[in-house]
Amino acid sequence: MEGRFDKYPTSPAFVLSDKSSEDVGRAMIEGGLQKQPFFIFNMDEAFRRIQHFKDMMPRVKIFYAMKCNDTEMMLKLAISQGIGFDCASPGEIYKLRKLNVCPTRIIYAMTSKTPEQMAYARKSGVRHTTFDTSYELKKLVEHWPDARLLIRIRVDSVCKVALGDKFGCDFDKEAIDLLEEAASLGLKVVGVAFHVGSICSSPESYVTGLQHARALFDHEATAGREMKIVDIGGGFLSERTDCIDQVSKLITAAVAELFPDPSIQIISEPGRYISDSSFTMYCSINNVRRSIKDGKQMNMIYIDDGVYGCLRDVEKWHYPKKFKRSTENDTGPLEEATLWGPSCDSEDRIMQDYTILLPRCVALDWLIFPGSGAYTITVSTRFSCLEIPLIRSVVSLELWNRIKDNEVFAANDFILNPDLSTPLPSTSPPLLQNHTLYERQ
Ligand code: PLP
Repeated sequence: MEGRFDKYPTSPAFVLSDKSSEDVGRAMIEGGLQKQPFFIFNMDEAFRRIQHFKDMMPRVKIFYAMKCNDTEMMLKLAISQGIGFDCASPGEIYKLRKLNVCPTRIIYAMTSKTPEQMAYARKSGVRHTTFDTSYELKKLVEHWPDARLLIRIRVDSVCKVALGDKFGCDFDKEAIDLLEEAASLGLKVVGVAFHVGSICSSPESYVTGLQHARALFDHEATAGREMKIVDIGGGFLSERTDCIDQVSKLITAAVAELFPDPSIQIISEPGRYISDSSFTMYCSINNVRRSIKDGKQMNMIYIDDGVYGCLRDVEKWHYPKKFKRSTENDTGPLEEATLWGPSCDSEDRIMQDYTILLPRCVALDWLIFPGSGAYTITVSTRFSCLEIPLIRSVVSLELWNRIKDNEVFAANDFILNPDLSTPLPSTSPPLLQNHTLYERQ
């Protein structure tokens, strides 16, 4: 059963001394050998994001939410930076354990688990998990009685993906009843977790969550029990590095006021913020149809990835631009365009809530989607047996020198002095010519 979790192929990272990740994308396209869509993973950018998060919130330990991007070099970089991980399934735990990550650096942050999933996590050595219902507690007593639990509460916010619709109990009576039930069952609740929702634009929601957590810490203290962890979840905007600056000031001040005791661990599970900006997708255009509809010029652009692939939730900061070849002087005026994915489904329309403006494109041009590192590869489907684009990772000589000796990396994870135009392996299936079933019938 092993292969299923290791399927996504990885290529060694190019070590760049005086070239940028854009130079690599350009060389691959203009070299003419790269025919299929691909990602460039700029390891320096992911490194910068991790550093910036740590600098802005030194008290908050990162547990990277790998559900948003679990590709191998991304995980290896995160491991080399000493951060922990938020896993939401045994498959994610397996991936980390294969990379020798110590299970104590993992939190299984999923409130609804099957007995098998609980047993897998427990046998893997994972210690921490979350819950928000009485049924979960009953399962835990039987299948993971020594788990260290965090009660997940709901915190409302202004956000794009409202996780409170699905997860988290009310912080007052419901939470208190659950804490009492956990104690009566002999389970150990060590902390409070919340997630304000993904792409959260109300920074004060983190403060509300911390206040609710404080109230529950106080309740437990009154009952003679002690909690030690507050998990502030993810949800941080990824559009620009400075998006974290405002929210981190509020969080730092609230933590200092509400949890001054330094022995209380504050952890967080950022996903999108860490990985989004470090990936750029280069997508080939395989067809263009120009027509007039209701007196209006329509440009239908058919590209080689779509909503069933990696382009399901394309945010405004991923707005595509046309790749401009070195030989091209001017890309021309912008025109309205519709972007269609490669499947046979007419729902396969990319960014349909946006007006897409692009210069005129022809078949075999390329589009560039910046900031496409979160919830792209991990949410892609295998609809119609279409393949997921492969990744060319790139790292500066400076960062390579800092990380190369970390034991998570193998010598063949990197290529020095690479030929930048080298294409990635083809994702086309192997040709089969040996089947003659119908001929024999
Ligand atoms: N933690 C949990 C429990 C989540 O469900 C998610 C996303 O769904 C994350 C962390 C990561 O959130 P984000 O990518 O918005 O930072």
